[in-house]
Amino acid sequence: MFDIEYFRMMPQLFYSFAKELFPSNFTPAPSHSFVKLLEDKDKLLRNYTQNIDTLEHVEGIKSVLNCHGSFATATCIKCGYKCDGKDLEEDIMAQQIAYCPKCNDKPKQPTKPKSSISEGATISSRDFGNEDDDDDEDDDDYGMQRGVMKPDITFFGEKLPDAFDEALLADREQVDLLLVMGSSLKVAPVSDIMGHLPHTVPQIVINKTPILHFNFDVQLLGNADDIVAYLADACGWTLEHPRIPGQSTQSAEFQAQIQKPIESPPPIKVVANVKDASLSGEVETVEKSYDVPKHWVVFPSAVISGKDLMVANGDIPIRLAIDSSDEEDAESYDSDEDEGDALADDIQKLHPSTPAP
Ligand SMILES: [Zn+2]
Repeated sequence: MFDIEYFRMMPQLFYSFAKELFPSNFTPAPSHSFVKLLEDKDKLLRNYTQNIDTLEHVEGIKSVLNCHGSFATATCIKCGYKCDGKDLEEDIMAQQIAYCPKCNDKPKQPTKPKSSISEGATISSRDFGNEDDDDDEDDDDYGMQRGVMKPDITFFGEKLPDAFDEALLADREQVDLLLVMGSSLKVAPVSDIMGHLPHTVPQIVINKTPILHFNFDVQLLGNADDIVAYLADACGWTLEHPRIPGQSTQSAEFQAQIQKPIESPPPIKVVANVKDASLSGEVETVEKSYDVPKHWVVFPSAVISGKDLMVANGDIPIRLAIDSSDEEDAESYDSDEDEGDALADDIQKLHPSTPAP
């Protein structure tokens, strides 16, 4: 959907769902307010965001870097004309293509480009021609011919804004703490940030599920909006937001129902069904007990699976596959869903008032 070649061919596809992503459909969350609070306290160096919804701007955060661009501005893919993202709002809300007011070659009657994928038509590999074909009067390149406006969000196949590299280079000399919130860190460029910081800089992540492919010093696991409210309160700060009970961490309502970390999460039993490669795929049940790692701070809203615990304790699933050195058997690992989520169940027992994740 976010492929630039795709957009050039069939901008109507993007414009058919862009409405769902347009910033006016969202409001900032307590997590945004927390970042604003950090900035107000002069503790924010920069907010690197993967979000394209510009809610950081709505919240009033000044030091923001939109790593994947945003809807704040838009550019004509034909002539390069730039405008405010707001100018596209009417078309986006009406789910119709926004054309360039400068080089606009808008059809008088709505016509479908030939490469429409509607009605189940298949797309030939030819439709994904390389960029060298752009100069051709090619019917596939509908957007380029007509002068279609594209919000300045970064699509796959497009170069990321230079601002990212420049900001990271400057910030790595000054940063004294990295706080990652609500990202699985699987997408560049944010996934590169950790590797570019000095090892002396503490790295903390707030996420619903554990991050296993980076070594964070502390993982605060649970609902980010609950955790930031807890952190603000623990720092003696006041965080205000309509979605915080009583609208403020100072309120009696909030203090009465503050979500605190579970003090000592018990060892969790994990039951895994493992296919035995040597015995023609027979399934054996393996039962093990795992400690929650010491650097995981588990809040009641955390979602931790048995597989997370296995991997965190160095017991990678392939090691549980019997008589197997074949990498393919890693795929045959099959954890029992119900048993695998044992931690979530145990947390439920410890905190019966918490809604199931
Ligand atoms: Zn134009």
